[in-house]
Amino acid sequence: MDIILFGMQGAGKGTQGKVIAERYGLDVFDTGAELRKLVKENNPLAQKVRQIMEAGHLVPTELVMEIIENFIQNTQGNILFDGIPRSAEQAKYFDDIIQRLDRKIKGIFIELTEEEAIERLTSRRSCPNCKTIYPKSYQSIYCENCENTELITRSDDKLESIKVRLNTYQNETIPVINEYENRGILTKVNGKQSIEKVSEDIFEILDPSFN
Ligand code: AMP
Repeated sequence: MDIILFGMQGAGKGTQGKVIAERYGLDVFDTGAELRKLVKENNPLAQKVRQIMEAGHLVPTELVMEIIENFIQNTQGNILFDGIPRSAEQAKYFDDIIQRLDRKIKGIFIELTEEEAIERLTSRRSCPNCKTIYPKSYQSIYCENCENTELITRSDDKLESIKVRLNTYQNETIPVINEYENRGILTKVNGKQSIEKVSEDIFEILDPSFN
């Protein structure tokens, strides 16, 4: 069984994704992280994708699907998908791939209000090395896992890009979430709780599928 994690930017998909993957032995496909790896390269495609991401827009579907299919083909076990599908067009391609490769999916939707998401996104920092995300309440400027590594703010966590990303989420991703819910393969979790409580709620939903 593969898991798809849905949720507004800042809902905690990255944090919960790590915990879920560890509990059930899943490989994580984090779409944003895979794209950030790609834009580090020095070529015209990387430059184009970098501009799209910094403005907060969605990267073209064909490119994203190529990266995903490649990831699935090179993975032995079950996968946790974070950040895909984000539009009706992507859902169509994604469902095709899942069917063609004979995989089963289950969705978890971490719900959060837009105000809470903006508050979290504008104040979060992350480690450029291990990618751990730190909330506003974390005091140090260094990562607690990677000695002497200073935390950074993501270049697309500026209010202007955040607004574009949340707008895209409302217009493009919410219809996909509704469709998965109507198909009976998605369960909602309240994201405005402690990290531990959100994890507990998710485990309660997923444990029966993995035992
Ligand atoms: P995230 O780390 O999930 O917030 O994603 C960061 C950025 O990566 C987004 O604002 C998009 O530019 C790009 N991105 C992530 N997932 C997708 C996707 N499924 N389709 C297209 N672009 C994406």
